[in-house]
Amino acid sequence: MSKTNEAALRREMVETCRKMNSTGINQGTAGNLSMRLDADSFLITPSSLPYENMKPADIMKMWMDGTFEGKHRPSSEWRFHRDILRHREDINCVLHCHSIYATTLAVHHKTIPSFHYMTGVAGGTTIRCARYATFGTQELSDAAIEALDGRLACLLGQHGQISLGKSFASALWLAIEVETISRMYVQALTLGEPPILSDGEMARVIGQMQRMSYGQMPEGEGANDVARPRTAKKAAAKKIAAKKAPARKTAARKPAARPAGRKRG
Ligand code: 13P
Ligand code: ZN
Repeated sequence: MSKTNEAALRREMVETCRKMNSTGINQGTAGNLSMRLDADSFLITPSSLPYENMKPADIMKMWMDGTFEGKHRPSSEWRFHRDILRHREDINCVLHCHSIYATTLAVHHKTIPSFHYMTGVAGGTTIRCARYATFGTQELSDAAIEALDGRLACLLGQHGQISLGKSFASALWLAIEVETISRMYVQALTLGEPPILSDGEMARVIGQMQRMSYGQMPEGEGANDVARPRTAKKAAAKKIAAKKAPARKTAARKPAARPAGRKRG
């Protein structure tokens, strides 16, 4: 990791921490955030430093062996950040907070079921709640790793939530989604335990979400009424028009112009 990239990540980390506060998912000195630098090191927020006062230089650098560098002490939860980054090559960012509705469910040790299709944003049919363990301990890290198996988010019993992402933006987005889903579930529970979507339907939802996040258009079975970029529609119309037009004899085509500096072939 070059020094410039690390500096940019430090700045982005401070911005994301401020957003954690401004979006209301975090308050006070609760919560922490980490970002992978390379296979052996990561950045992590310092312990108990209010985000409003935090500067890029306050962010701590840690190595997988538990050693650190920086002006402060690393977050008390460095173990679960380290262990998740080590276990999960599919993500780079770990976000932890005590958002109110997720924590409301977590204090009751409630796993979020597929009462709403958006439960699937965490990658499975449920968002599990990890068993309680004291903050800052290896036991809490072990419980979190278990609850996150095959998932991008979990609740922490009598504590809060963890959301994962490839980037700061995706982890923050997911943490806000988890909080919103939790709020809906808490609200739904006031009318009784809601019905849940079947595993089959959730598999379909998750497939649909994956296709969408890979930038492909979701397509309903047998549907010929599919959303598509307008430019594609125009290109298809041109193709049809070209087919209908009588064939014209054309001279050998000149090679198409390309932006300078692009490799040929
Ligand atoms: P730190 O300030 O040490 O990161 O702790 C906050 C927290 O949420 C502990 O679980
Ligand atoms: Zn916490």
